[in-house]
Amino acid sequence: MKSAAFDYVKPKSLAEALSALAMGGDEAQLIAGGQTLLATLNMRLSEPALLIDISSVAELKGIALDGYTLRIGALVTHTEIEESELIAQHAPLLKAAAPHIAHRAIRNLGTWGGSLVYGDPAAEWPACSMALDATMILANERGERRVAARDFFVDLYTTALEDGEILVATEIPVASPNHVFCFQELARRHGDYAIAGLAAAADKHSNTLDSCSFAFFSIASTPVLCEAAQLAVNGQPLTATVISSAVRAARDSLETIGDITNSAENKTHLAGVLLERALKQIMG
Ligand SMILES: Cc1cc2nc3c(=O)[nH]c(=O)nc-3n(C[C@H](O)[C@H](O)[C@H](O)COP(=O)(O)OP(=O)(O)OC[C@H]3O[C@@H](n4cnc5c(N)ncnc54)[C@H](O)[C@@H]3O)c2cc1C
Repeated sequence: MKSAAFDYVKPKSLAEALSALAMGGDEAQLIAGGQTLLATLNMRLSEPALLIDISSVAELKGIALDGYTLRIGALVTHTEIEESELIAQHAPLLKAAAPHIAHRAIRNLGTWGGSLVYGDPAAEWPACSMALDATMILANERGERRVAARDFFVDLYTTALEDGEILVATEIPVASPNHVFCFQELARRHGDYAIAGLAAAADKHSNTLDSCSFAFFSIASTPVLCEAAQLAVNGQPLTATVISSAVRAARDSLETIGDITNSAENKTHLAGVLLERALKQIMG
């Protein structure tokens, strides 16, 4: 199929993009890398009257270090994240996760911001942003606001982004010297969306973890931080008994939802498998 006809603008600045979005209202839609939107346009699942191509907006580009904060522009591609030295040093979880996203051709065009805003519960970046306690910077014509990643993913394909807003960038606290992480994903074939996944981050002191963040994805309508498992691990010497308690706590507390290939029960089981693998890998 081909998309319905639409008008097209390509603003050069954030102000121009925001103004086009405000004028277009409900009839306007942003396009970044197009790796999700082009398919929905061609299948006519989405029929905007105006397409606003933000790919030339300089304010949305680049990865930068600002003190203890890493800023990732919304237009940064999955490949740029995979290859960035700043990411490798200060947010290594993202480097570990990037190769799991689709295939190279899609990673070369698809963007960090597009993935976060689309809010696919099976996507890697939403869970990573929660595990790393990221903050979303959202702009509209009147100014900017910040929303914690942990409050951003509201429901299936639904985020806290409001009409007239553009995701400009994300801020991530840089990894501390004690930072440890593990990215685990089960997929039928490499590059497929996950059946279940886990983005885990913590601080490690000797054989004890604290400040644990275990963000599961592709198990529910949004990525989910598993507080019960985090509590089971935080501050405890990481023994086999503690790992078993954490796995049990995850399986008992996660409210999983099945999909066309896997039941909710399978997802619950797999979440425990991934957590056990992650904790064993973190402890070496
Ligand atoms: C075959 C295939 C396999 C894939 N596999 C995976 C996978 O395994 N894991 C994964 O995570 N993703 C996967 N993807 C999706 C891919 O990562 C997309 O690139 C990503 O989800 C969307 O990014 P984009 O830049 O292409 O966004 P677009 O398609 O351009 O836009 C997506 C949505 O976000 C909105 N949007 C984009 N940028 C902004 C912004 N800055 N502010 C506000 N709204 C914005 C658009 O209006 C649109 O609604 C796959 C895609 C394909 C085609």
